Amino acid sequence: MSPVTVFVLIISVLLLAATLYFVFESFREQEKRAVRNGLGAALLILCLSVLAFIPVLWFIPAALCLVLIGFSALLFIPAAPDEKALKGSRGYQKGDVTRFDERDSVFVRYRYLPEGSEQYTTYYQMHPDRESADAQRRKKGFIGTPGSIDREYLPNVAMMHAAFSIPPFLGLHAHASPQDGVTPARLTPEKATRIVKHLALHIGADMVGIAKVDPDLVYSHRGETHYERFDDWGKPISDLPKYAVVMLTEMKHGHVISAPHTPTVAESAHLYARGAYLSTLMAQWFSHMGYRGVAEHTRNYDLPLPPLAVDAGLGEVGRQGYLIAPKFGARVRIFATLTDMPLIPDAPISMGVEAFCMACKKCADSCPSKSIPWDEKVVYNGFEKWKLDEASCFDYWSRVGTDCSICMAICPFSRPDTLLHRAVRVLVAKSRLAQRTFPYVDNFLYGKQWRPKTVAPWLSYRNQHDDTEVY
Ligand code: SF4
Ligand code: SF4
Repeated sequence: MSPVTVFVLIISVLLLAATLYFVFESFREQEKRAVRNGLGAALLILCLSVLAFIPVLWFIPAALCLVLIGFSALLFIPAAPDEKALKGSRGYQKGDVTRFDERDSVFVRYRYLPEGSEQYTTYYQMHPDRESADAQRRKKGFIGTPGSIDREYLPNVAMMHAAFSIPPFLGLHAHASPQDGVTPARLTPEKATRIVKHLALHIGADMVGIAKVDPDLVYSHRGETHYERFDDWGKPISDLPKYAVVMLTEMKHGHVISAPHTPTVAESAHLYARGAYLSTLMAQWFSHMGYRGVAEHTRNYDLPLPPLAVDAGLGEVGRQGYLIAPKFGARVRIFATLTDMPLIPDAPISMGVEAFCMACKKCADSCPSKSIPWDEKVVYNGFEKWKLDEASCFDYWSRVGTDCSICMAICPFSRPDTLLHRAVRVLVAKSRLAQRTFPYVDNFLYGKQWRPKTVAPWLSYRNQHDDTEVY
């Protein structure tokens, strides 16, 4: 055997092993197109390696091997770090910042403005252009008929209702003052930070980081009126604690793959309950340590959490507006506890998300309500961002009776945390060539359109009506 043939054979064996591993992982992830492509590639590798034994044709596989080795070498040329990402949310500032008014959130408008109330009149005097569209939308209910896409499949819909019934109990304890008679614990910030992070992971957070609360990111006025506290509506929000313990919980891949069906909203609701528990427990811990603690969860928001998570070094924000975290991609929910206890903030990180999103656009292509922009970022309230059309997104939720989550499920960063996807994420974070080329490779291998996948039998909403596909 000539040295060239041996060279081609070694490369072919390595490539074949990598390809078969890709096929194995894709099969487990129910990515049918990727399995087909992987098997096709394996066949091609076998055919090309045979050419290495044919005297007049050996140069074809040899040349392809050299091209492949060259491309792989180029992948290891490091990209300059993304300076914007490394500055955290302030890295995206483009001009004067206007604090967001929580009363303007579509969620808040639809849920917390009772028709005929003083607050209702005040709001629509300020924004007469929004009244009629909001009224139409309000008639459809918060998410329409829960679980309507699955014909209200009761086990999953009941999971959603059960989980959402928990945060209202805990929201009453979101603001924890220092316990009477307790002198603030005198821990060094290093030790306090170590304890807080271990505690967060111990009680159930999947990732934790510390950020300083940026006053410009705090809502300017209260919009939510939980517990019928209408007097709170329109009050300026100020005097929040300085530090934030930001916690992420992972949306299970096995649920998210059903998006927009009911297993995914059952999982969202479950994590809202878990996040309420985590953030409240942490707030109460600070109270018993002699400090203020404010739990930020679905029953008490003082600021939007994705920028806070960026500042806590937990990820970057993607085109679809979700935080994209290193291990879980967009499959996370964010919760936080604010405190005065001095802590050491984490540094923001660069994962190559912005460069990847520029070419990917998979979420925008798959969004059924076309709510995600294909274009460049725009400047909104002084920060550049991809601006989601919340109203049309929310409208789709009411049509399916779930929180959809297709854009979370289809994001390439959301794939399971396996060796294969971990390696890809590392390359995307470090290599400009990977940031530029991998979105196209991903689209070719996996396709651009979302198809819900099969869930575990205990979640299967298709059992009830002759296995009829209702998507
Ligand atoms: S949740 Fe669904 S409707 Fe909303 S932006 Fe994402 S894909 Fe579009
Ligand atoms: S699907 Fe693509 S474009 Fe959308 S957030 Fe994820 S990486 Fe970015």
